[in-house]
Amino acid sequence: MEKKVVPKCRFGQHSYFSAEGRWLPCCSHPAMGEEFDRSIFSRDEYLLKNNDSVDEFHLKDSFLNWIEHIENSYESNLDVCKGRCSLQSHEAMKKDKRIHWTMEELEEYEA
Ligand code: SF4
Repeated sequence: MEKKVVPKCRFGQHSYFSAEGRWLPCCSHPAMGEEFDRSIFSRDEYLLKNNDSVDEFHLKDSFLNWIEHIENSYESNLDVCKGRCSLQSHEAMKKDKRIHWTMEELEEYEA
């Protein structure tokens, strides 16, 4: 099977705000440390206080570009993303009927 990350955070459905009011894509993404410092989510644009709407974080250009990058550049992804959101992990969840993606969405990646 192709090595690919299929980000479960793609539509913002796993996002949360940290105690400092920072939007993060999922609870597995580092919220501190070197990897966090290098990520787009350490930028001020991801602080709630710098935004007008909670609903628009997952529509930011930087987030959409990041999603595109992690889908198309497997080796440069964080290990946590390779593990939690690999195509293989989606397959396993699908078998367990725990998948929340539609079959059509997943088939997009299997093509
Ligand atoms: S592990 Fe990575 S790709 Fe998966 S939901 Fe979290 S941030 Fe997104």
